[in-house]
Amino acid sequence: MYLYRSVDLEPRANSRPWWTHPLVLIGTGFAILAALSDSAPAEPTCGVCGRPGHNRTSCPHDGPRVHFSRAIPKRRRCDCCGQAKYKKYRHHPRGRSDDSDFLDVCYDCHLYCCHDGDFHNIGIKPRDCRVLNRPSFWRT
Ligand SMILES: [Zn+2]
Ligand SMILES: [Zn+2]
Ligand SMILES: [Zn+2]
Ligand SMILES: [Zn+2]
Repeated sequence: MYLYRSVDLEPRANSRPWWTHPLVLIGTGFAILAALSDSAPAEPTCGVCGRPGHNRTSCPHDGPRVHFSRAIPKRRRCDCCGQAKYKKYRHHPRGRSDDSDFLDVCYDCHLYCCHDGDFHNIGIKPRDCRVLNRPSFWRT
Protein backbone atom coordinates (compact mmCIF):
# COMPACT_ATOMS: atom_id res chain seq x y z
CA MET A 1 0.00 0.00 0.00
CA TYR A 2 2.72 2.48 0.99
CA LEU A 3 4.78 1.65 -2.09
CA TYR A 4 1.84 2.23 -4.45
CA ARG A 5 1.14 5.70 -3.02
CA SER A 6 4.71 6.87 -3.31
CA VAL A 7 4.74 6.02 -7.03
CA ASP A 8 1.42 7.74 -7.57
CA LEU A 9 2.61 11.04 -6.06
CA GLU A 10 5.32 11.40 -8.69
CA PRO A 11 3.66 10.85 -12.05
CA ARG A 12 6.05 10.83 -15.02
CA ALA A 13 4.50 13.84 -16.69
CA ASN A 14 5.54 16.10 -13.82
CA SER A 15 9.16 14.98 -13.85
CA ARG A 16 10.00 17.41 -16.70
CA PRO A 17 10.63 21.08 -15.85
CA TRP A 18 7.59 23.33 -16.36
CA TRP A 19 9.21 25.35 -19.14
CA THR A 20 9.47 22.34 -21.45
CA HIS A 21 5.67 22.17 -21.62
CA PRO A 22 4.62 22.69 -25.31
CA LEU A 23 2.22 25.52 -24.46
CA VAL A 24 4.93 27.39 -22.58
CA LEU A 25 7.33 27.03 -25.53
CA ILE A 26 4.69 28.27 -28.00
CA GLY A 27 3.90 31.22 -25.74
CA THR A 28 7.58 32.11 -25.50
CA GLY A 29 7.87 31.92 -29.30
CA PHE A 30 5.00 34.36 -29.74
CA ALA A 31 6.51 36.71 -27.17
CA ILE A 32 9.83 36.75 -29.10
CA LEU A 33 8.02 37.33 -32.41
CA ALA A 34 6.02 40.18 -30.90
CA ALA A 35 9.20 41.77 -29.56
CA LEU A 36 10.87 41.49 -32.98
CA SER A 37 7.95 43.00 -34.90
CA ASP A 38 7.66 45.76 -32.33
CA SER A 39 11.30 46.75 -32.75
CA ALA A 40 11.14 46.93 -36.58
CA PRO A 41 9.21 50.24 -36.92
CA ALA A 42 11.33 51.70 -34.12
CA GLU A 43 14.35 51.91 -36.46
CA PRO A 44 14.97 55.65 -36.84
CA THR A 45 14.10 57.04 -40.23
CA CYS A 46 15.13 60.36 -41.72
CA GLY A 47 12.70 63.21 -41.03
CA VAL A 48 13.23 64.63 -44.52
CA CYS A 49 12.99 61.69 -46.89
CA GLY A 50 11.64 59.03 -44.51
CA ARG A 51 14.38 56.52 -45.28
CA PRO A 52 16.40 54.65 -42.62
CA GLY A 53 20.18 54.67 -42.30
CA HIS A 54 20.77 58.40 -41.85
CA ASN A 55 19.15 61.37 -40.18
CA ARG A 56 17.99 64.86 -41.08
CA THR A 57 21.44 66.43 -40.84
CA SER A 58 23.14 63.85 -43.07
CA CYS A 59 20.24 63.45 -45.51
CA PRO A 60 21.51 63.51 -49.12
CA HIS A 61 18.15 64.98 -50.14
CA ASP A 62 18.47 68.00 -47.83
CA GLY A 63 22.18 68.84 -47.88
CA PRO A 64 24.06 71.27 -50.12
CA ARG A 65 23.61 70.63 -53.82
CA VAL A 66 26.58 68.84 -55.32
CA HIS A 67 27.18 69.49 -58.99
CA PHE A 68 28.27 66.69 -61.24
CA SER A 69 31.54 66.89 -63.05
CA ARG A 70 31.15 68.59 -66.41
CA ALA A 71 33.66 66.07 -67.75
CA ILE A 72 30.93 63.46 -67.96
CA PRO A 73 29.29 63.96 -71.34
CA LYS A 74 25.52 64.15 -71.31
CA ARG A 75 23.80 61.18 -72.79
CA ARG A 76 22.11 61.64 -76.12
CA ARG A 77 18.88 59.98 -75.06
CA CYS A 78 16.74 60.67 -72.04
CA ASP A 79 17.50 58.01 -69.41
CA CYS A 80 13.80 57.80 -68.67
CA CYS A 81 11.76 58.08 -71.87
CA GLY A 82 14.61 57.24 -74.24
CA GLN A 83 13.84 60.15 -76.57
CA ALA A 84 16.77 62.10 -78.00
CA LYS A 85 15.02 65.21 -79.27
CA TYR A 86 14.73 67.15 -75.99
CA LYS A 87 17.28 69.07 -73.93
CA LYS A 88 18.62 66.97 -71.05
CA TYR A 89 18.92 67.85 -67.39
CA ARG A 90 21.19 66.02 -65.01
CA HIS A 91 19.18 64.61 -62.14
CA HIS A 92 20.31 63.38 -58.69
CA PRO A 93 18.43 60.11 -58.12
CA ARG A 94 20.03 59.67 -54.67
CA GLY A 95 19.56 63.21 -53.41
CA ARG A 96 21.15 66.52 -54.35
CA SER A 97 24.16 65.96 -52.04
CA ASP A 98 24.96 62.56 -53.52
CA ASP A 99 26.75 62.56 -56.87
CA SER A 100 27.40 58.81 -56.95
CA ASP A 101 24.65 58.31 -59.50
CA PHE A 102 22.94 60.49 -62.07
CA LEU A 103 20.38 60.40 -64.82
CA ASP A 104 20.22 62.64 -67.88
CA VAL A 105 16.54 63.25 -68.42
CA CYS A 106 14.34 65.54 -70.46
CA TYR A 107 12.32 68.24 -68.69
CA ASP A 108 9.04 66.32 -68.57
CA CYS A 109 10.69 63.16 -67.27
CA HIS A 110 12.65 65.18 -64.73
CA LEU A 111 9.49 66.80 -63.40
CA TYR A 112 6.96 63.97 -63.65
CA CYS A 113 9.02 60.77 -63.49
CA CYS A 114 11.86 61.83 -61.17
CA HIS A 115 10.12 64.36 -58.89
CA ASP A 116 6.48 63.24 -58.95
CA GLY A 117 5.25 66.46 -60.57
CA ASP A 118 6.90 68.97 -58.21
CA PHE A 119 10.62 69.77 -57.93
CA HIS A 120 10.13 70.21 -54.18
CA ASN A 121 9.48 66.48 -53.93
CA ILE A 122 12.28 64.08 -53.07
CA GLY A 123 14.00 62.94 -56.26
CA ILE A 124 13.90 59.28 -57.14
CA LYS A 125 15.35 57.01 -59.78
CA PRO A 126 12.24 56.26 -61.84
CA ARG A 127 11.59 52.65 -62.75
CA ASP A 128 8.88 53.52 -65.22
CA CYS A 129 8.41 56.51 -67.49
CA ARG A 130 5.09 58.24 -66.85
CA VAL A 131 5.33 60.28 -70.02
CA LEU A 132 5.49 57.27 -72.33
CA ASN A 133 4.03 54.77 -69.86
CA ARG A 134 6.74 52.13 -70.22
CA PRO A 135 9.85 50.93 -68.32
CA SER A 136 12.45 53.66 -67.97
CA PHE A 137 15.13 53.69 -70.65
CA TRP A 138 18.02 53.15 -68.19
CA ARG A 139 16.55 49.73 -67.35
CA THR A 140 16.28 48.53 -70.91
ZN1 LIG B 1 16.91 61.46 -45.73
ZN1 LIG C 1 12.38 61.86 -71.02
ZN1 LIG D 1 16.14 66.06 -60.24
ZN1 LIG E 1 9.99 59.62 -68.05
